[in-house]
Amino acid sequence: DGITLEKVRDYVWEIPQEGDMNVPARVLASEELLDEISEDKTLQQLKNATHLPGVRKYAVCMPDGHQGYGFPVGGVAGIDAENGCISPGAVGYDINCGVRMMTTNLTYDDLRGREEELVDALFANVPSGLGGGGVYEGSMDDVEAILDRGMEWALEEGFAVPEDLEHCEDEGVRPDSDPSKVSQKAKDRGKNQVGSLGSGNHFLEVQRVTDVYREDVAADFGLEPDQIVVLIHCGSRGLGHQVCTDYLREIEQAHSGLLSQLPDKELAAAPAGSQLAEDYYGAMCAAINFAWVNRQLIMHRTREVFEKVFDRSWEAMEMDLLYDVAHNIAKKETHEVEDGEEREVYVHRKGATRAFPAGRPEVPPAYRDVGQPILIPGSMGAGSYVLRGGEESLTETFGSTAHGAGRLMSRTQAKQEFWGGDVQDDLREGQQVYVKAQSGATVAEEAPGVYKDVDEVVRVSDALGIGDRVARTFPVCNIKG
Ligand code: 5GP
Ligand code: MN
Ligand code: MN
Repeated sequence: DGITLEKVRDYVWEIPQEGDMNVPARVLASEELLDEISEDKTLQQLKNATHLPGVRKYAVCMPDGHQGYGFPVGGVAGIDAENGCISPGAVGYDINCGVRMMTTNLTYDDLRGREEELVDALFANVPSGLGGGGVYEGSMDDVEAILDRGMEWALEEGFAVPEDLEHCEDEGVRPDSDPSKVSQKAKDRGKNQVGSLGSGNHFLEVQRVTDVYREDVAADFGLEPDQIVVLIHCGSRGLGHQVCTDYLREIEQAHSGLLSQLPDKELAAAPAGSQLAEDYYGAMCAAINFAWVNRQLIMHRTREVFEKVFDRSWEAMEMDLLYDVAHNIAKKETHEVEDGEEREVYVHRKGATRAFPAGRPEVPPAYRDVGQPILIPGSMGAGSYVLRGGEESLTETFGSTAHGAGRLMSRTQAKQEFWGGDVQDDLREGQQVYVKAQSGATVAEEAPGVYKDVDEVVRVSDALGIGDRVARTFPVCNIKG
């Protein structure tokens, strides 16, 4: 397909700079993963991204990369915040889609024999699917407050404790939020979705810890073998999607000159310093806040469900937030670029997770000595991982690593290959995983076989030193939209 890759060293491949590329591009993968990455448009999209004005150092594809809208899922680009640009397609439609993990002091034995009861209770009480409202039915004033203050709002309203904020990326609040830049249509879409999983790839999963790789770090994270934990994956629902749609359209029109110089219309970008760049950034930050509240309310509801099922308070079960990470986001951060120069860049992480190592001031005090927790879901029939930010991430990936196993086939293809009911039965009989979903089609689209090998993705992250393996979990109960 005309894209040459040069091997830099183990797991590091480069598309050399040529033509209108502003920088080279890099792919971080084993040969096995690289074969999968090479099957779709990922490499072309990564190369295209190097045409964006102000992109620094190199555009990078994580080991779980696959093609997305304009820019790969699993793509990272640090773009100069002074003379570069910001690109909604390089953030993604589901702004601040992300994952949080809550620990407990329950063990797998406490749960065995009660999986069915727990999965039914979660499914009945955690809103999911396309329609159906959220945990909190608020007013438009609430929506404004959520967009403005994020998790601070959840704290004020009694849906969070202070530790929940401390254990969230950016403490659950983007100070640059500007709710006035979010359209009424977006706010309307979000209003009755506060605390809802949504459909498709989003899930709530009760898991057990199966492996611990770095005992000291695992202890700092409060993780030990056989422990029950809960992983929640969702984003900003219709609100974030609308923000992305609104600004893509506006940017395509207002900055058509820039767009005409880019190889793909889907890379539409607003020049740094332009009104639209500021407006999109403010609106995106507001959507980020919305997503954090969304995951917080789902976690709050999960605590209540556990209280009912196990007849103890959530505090007694020590249902604490380990950490919450965003994996569709752009943020102004300071990084070393070419020649060791320090620059403020818009770090676009689309299907990529921040992976800051020990010492970086953005890592909350509780984890500053060991590195930021990173959460990498696998699938409902495979392991998921907790990592910690690795020492190499700042030089290699603008402080980032993978966000999942990564999709191997399209949803359409998945529905041809798998039948939801069979997948569910196999999971239960073969792996003791209890899945409940709004539709069989969702189960087929999210079957374990549609995802790549998460163990391999994490092995590469660990080998490169960008995100170090701490612990592995395996699903017990899973609910989906
Ligand atoms: P995305 O945000 O790109 O939709 O997905 C993130 C990752 O979540 C996917 O790459 C996949 O590895 C993982 N994943 C999808 N469904 C499930 C699930 O039901 N359980 C777990 N543990 N992981 C999942
Ligand atoms: Mn999402
Ligand atoms: Mn996601």
